[in-house]
Amino acid sequence: MTHSLTDLDFYQLDDLLSPEEKMTREAIRQFVQREVLPGVERHFASETFPVELVPRMAQLGIFGANLKGYGCAGMNNISYGLIMQELEAGDSGLRSFASVQSALAMYAIYSSGSEEQKNRYLPGMAQGKLIGCFGLTEPDHGSDPGGMETRARKDGRGWVLNGTKRWITNGSIADLAIVWARVEEGITGFIVEKGTLGFSTRDIHGKFSMRASITSELVFDDVRLDEAHHLPNARGLRAPLSCLTQARFGIMHLRICILEVVNRLCLDLLGQEHLRLGCEADLVTLLDGSQGDIRELEVRFRSTHVGNRRRKNIERSFYIEDDILDRLVEVKVRGD
Ligand SMILES: Cc1cc2nc3c(=O)[nH]c(=O)nc-3n(C[C@H](O)[C@H](O)[C@H](O)COP(=O)(O)OP(=O)(O)OC[C@H]3O[C@@H](n4cnc5c(N)ncnc54)[C@H](O)[C@@H]3O)c2cc1C
Repeated sequence: MTHSLTDLDFYQLDDLLSPEEKMTREAIRQFVQREVLPGVERHFASETFPVELVPRMAQLGIFGANLKGYGCAGMNNISYGLIMQELEAGDSGLRSFASVQSALAMYAIYSSGSEEQKNRYLPGMAQGKLIGCFGLTEPDHGSDPGGMETRARKDGRGWVLNGTKRWITNGSIADLAIVWARVEEGITGFIVEKGTLGFSTRDIHGKFSMRASITSELVFDDVRLDEAHHLPNARGLRAPLSCLTQARFGIMHLRICILEVVNRLCLDLLGQEHLRLGCEADLVTLLDGSQGDIRELEVRFRSTHVGNRRRKNIERSFYIEDDILDRLVEVKVRGD
């Protein structure tokens, strides 16, 4: 039994959307149905990113969708969130690509770059002709970026950059990397273009999720950069963190998508069409009152989506659903 995502709009959120927002969502939904789902499983299996979809995504105005000027679509934030929500329903890796390109790489230049840098990079990025990545995480510094060890020192009128970034989405396919580094005054950002001497990348393989997404290590070995590659308005940790805030808006929407998928899965698994699930709390209530216990449901959930390739979008989002299930198990065990 299948249920469309709109069947699961128990709080009638649709009524809050404008016709333009619904139109944007419908365009991305059609794109996902017709152009993403038919081929993305192959990329998931082979750990490749579907680069062939990038021009079409650009045409749909996905990159930098909520930025104004510089060839960006200038949509509102809700539309941007709906785009992320629909892309996530296709594949987490594809959504991640769009999120990194837009909210991290483009937004870093948009918010901290000079006018020359904005004009030089943003139109090409909006058109999908330039791919960006965002290098903040380091091998020993993930949740605490303030501990970063990547350093840039002044050298005449330019800079010399040294360090390593790890777990960087789009790393090896990016034409430019936004790199955060420590300088004498604190933390600042640089634009490092592919091919710059001393800059190399290495892909990380064997990921359990986000498989249709490239994740890389970036290495900077005495990389020389001129001032034109320094983000002049990136002062302090606030600069990269404001990019993460931009990205979080999309992350919130992808969570809505995942909850919808989990709800749909429960409807399918339990075969109770009358069930009305709208949030995790309702889900817990359902599980408490259901014929199977949560462990059983979990086992059925896992065996079903491993065994049924048609549920590939769920499998690819597994790490987040895992988190939801783990917390549900916790709630059940604690009895609250
Ligand atoms: C597929 C993928 C793509 C990514 N893409 C990018 C990218 O494009 N750019 C980028 O810069 N980074 C990227 N990352 C890195 C990601 O943002 C980091 O994984 C994240 O910041 C967490 O860092 P960590 O993995 O080192 O975990 P850790 O910091 O080691 O944390 C491990 C666990 O401990 C918890 N924890 C940590 N500190 C505390 C604390 N003080 N109190 C309580 N709990 C704590 C965390 O919540 C987490 O559960 C990516 C990661 C993955 C897996």
